Amino acid sequence: MFDFQIQARCPNTAARVATFSTPHGVLQTPQFMPVGTLGTVKGVTSSQLEETKAEMILANTFHLHLQPGEAIVKEVGGLHEFMSWHKPILTDSGGYQVFSLGKLNKIDDEGVSFQSPRDGRHIELTPEKAIQIQMDLGADVIMAFDQCPPYPATHAEVQSACNRTHDWLHRSVEAHCKEDQALFGIIQGGCFLDLREQSAQLVTKFDLPGIAIGGVSVGEPTKEIHRIVRHLSPLLPLNIPKYLMGIGTIREMAISVANGVDLFDCVLPTRLGRHGTALIRDERWNLRNARFKNDFQPLDKTCTCEACQNYSRAYIHHLIRNDELLGLTLLSLHNLSHLQRFSHAMSVSIRDGCFSEDFAPWQKDSIARHTW
Ligand SMILES: [Zn+2]
Repeated sequence: MFDFQIQARCPNTAARVATFSTPHGVLQTPQFMPVGTLGTVKGVTSSQLEETKAEMILANTFHLHLQPGEAIVKEVGGLHEFMSWHKPILTDSGGYQVFSLGKLNKIDDEGVSFQSPRDGRHIELTPEKAIQIQMDLGADVIMAFDQCPPYPATHAEVQSACNRTHDWLHRSVEAHCKEDQALFGIIQGGCFLDLREQSAQLVTKFDLPGIAIGGVSVGEPTKEIHRIVRHLSPLLPLNIPKYLMGIGTIREMAISVANGVDLFDCVLPTRLGRHGTALIRDERWNLRNARFKNDFQPLDKTCTCEACQNYSRAYIHHLIRNDELLGLTLLSLHNLSHLQRFSHAMSVSIRDGCFSEDFAPWQKDSIARHTW
């Protein structure tokens, strides 16, 4: 279980194609994971999700703990049963949400206490509790509880968050006792490369079945993400999956894959879909725009998703203009398919030995010109 097999490597970059085995099936990497915050990828059924070619999804420990609570999920047999998704699931630890959404009352070495953004009740979260909740939810991959520092933050603040994250990783590993579940550690360190390096060394020592790069996409300029990923690339082990948390833009995905990253997640495709925006090549189209009023072409002629196969831009424009739920579902389906298609195209390109030519946005203005 949790076997990671590299099947092909790019001769010019650290990009690779691999398989990762979990109790709910084997997934191919590079892989984009849609985000199902509350045990639902918003607006999309589990079978529709499967049709987008998603192989693994992410659910949020923090949100599921607040509602409906892990006891309900455990009672029905875990998250796979509860949401009728029988492929792999990853749950985050709640660390990121605690620090970004909760009204923090107290944070110390023991853990965090905060007011629920939902109903104001007082909640405490420690590494042990975050792991217990995730064991009850029953995902295939779970994350260690971490402290995600905001951006910007001083070196001293980020150092302190790193120290706590490493201490909490130790406690997360101690608390975890479910063999059919893989625990991943999280590297923090903000935009300070010395702290990233220190964190990478410490997390690697735990010899876990996977490692995540956290604390990105918290407001820093995009070039900082590239710098962090490039710096960490040679420091991390090759024989385990590496997951860049919260990233789902194609340029950042391509640059990260070139630096040996395998897994991604992001709310972007469904969030944009709910706002009437479609991902087309490396552009974003607002379907509310009047230019689509009598445009009867498919959204994207090269896409095989349900929205592009069965409906026109004009019809989706009409749905979005009238706040029809179907419009949001169709755009979400297309955007999710778009990122699956992009991940798949990177895999094919790595296998064919042309990844560094096809997906090198650092060399060319656009990656839209390539055949994917
Ligand atoms: Zn489509």
